[in-house]
Amino acid sequence: MKRETPIAVIGAGLGGATVAALLQRDGFAVRLYEQARAFERIGAGIHVSANVMKVLRHLDAEHRLSQIGIHPDSFTSRKWDTGEVLFELPLGDAGEQKYGASYITVHRNDLHAAILEKVQPGTIEFGKRLIDVKSDGAATHLIFSDGSAADAGMVIGADGVNSKVRDAVAGPSKSRFVGAVAHRAIYPSTLLGDIELRNCTKWWGPNSHILIYYIEQSRNEIYLVTSAKGEWNSEAAWEFCAREEVLRAFEGFHPEVRKVIETAQELTKWPILDINPIEKWSEGNLVLLGDAGHAMTPYMASGAAMAIEDAAVLARCLLQSDDHAAAFELYEASRMPRVRKVQKISAENSFLRYPADPAWVFGYDAVTVPLGP
Ligand SMILES: Cc1cc2nc3c(=O)[nH]c(=O)nc-3n(C[C@H](O)[C@H](O)[C@H](O)COP(=O)(O)OP(=O)(O)OC[C@H]3O[C@@H](n4cnc5c(N)ncnc54)[C@H](O)[C@@H]3O)c2cc1C
Repeated sequence: MKRETPIAVIGAGLGGATVAALLQRDGFAVRLYEQARAFERIGAGIHVSANVMKVLRHLDAEHRLSQIGIHPDSFTSRKWDTGEVLFELPLGDAGEQKYGASYITVHRNDLHAAILEKVQPGTIEFGKRLIDVKSDGAATHLIFSDGSAADAGMVIGADGVNSKVRDAVAGPSKSRFVGAVAHRAIYPSTLLGDIELRNCTKWWGPNSHILIYYIEQSRNEIYLVTSAKGEWNSEAAWEFCAREEVLRAFEGFHPEVRKVIETAQELTKWPILDINPIEKWSEGNLVLLGDAGHAMTPYMASGAAMAIEDAAVLARCLLQSDDHAAAFELYEASRMPRVRKVQKISAENSFLRYPADPAWVFGYDAVTVPLGP
């Protein structure tokens, strides 16, 4: 595709920032429009699996992140009450050899910052909430809530689960609350005293689960994230949550889990949202990536991974195709089968509960995988 075509990326989250950085490196003209006025350090950790690390390597961001995040020796699944180990997936050196890159857990903002650092200064326009998209043949007109407007030759909708660009691609649609909430907390691990925690554990309960992991090599900070049945009647993205509420949701869990919750100083609560699968990710010169096209439950810890993989594959498709229509067709053919599979397994919440080989997820390399169906 012609490098001069002005490309607008809506949303400077994990997927939008990745695609912008990759396209700029290939010489494309990119502008990023982000609704937030600035990025805040939210209390969340994230799994950065080997498939993501390979894209970060391509972006020259792997080394920095690898030095911050912890490289867990394993991912351990345990039974909620007895603590029986259901499955232990070796990571560390063994994982790196098997999947072609390391697997780390890290603060979400450190991941975001490592990617944003690769976006050319001055590319992002903050405080630009897209409210409407109008296409007239070659150009697309973007309208923002502050009354401003911009034109683009191509638009990448990386605007997350409540995507506005998705409305223009696939018709109006709303995100769906799946009936569960995620509690989150980050706090200094010294508060736990002498307890020796494994690096990364998922505790599987009958109707809920909790993941507990470190987010830095120093193990100075511990992170917990749950999924428990709940209600959500707020317009807010998240709310503070009383510790007692979380303890109630995890009644009867192993004493180690209870202790980690009891020690949390500040807990937040987030609705778990997904979208009904949509049949197409592009229309005219608009294309979707990440949660905008396929928001899923976080039960495979792979939503951001899919957004970042999408970004790498879309950039490759644009680079090697003559026009955006051919590029979008190749992108959808390349990505849809994999993303659908991940969406389905995420919804089942079965990934790595019992012995399984996840090489198909972690071994994937979005930078080199053959493009096409
Ligand atoms: C509890 C929980 C735990 C998770 N853990 C993991 C994990 O361990 N590993 C993993 O891979 N994934 C995980 N995920 C999923 C992951 O967070 C998302 O899939 C990922 O953030 C999607 O990236 P994205 O770039 O598509 O969207 P986002 O990261 O949501 O970015 C969208 C961006 O667009 C902006 N935006 C939105 N609307 C507009 C608009 N109208 N105009 C302009 N800008 C707009 C937003 O402000 C935001 O910056 C988790 C999710 C949850 C809820």
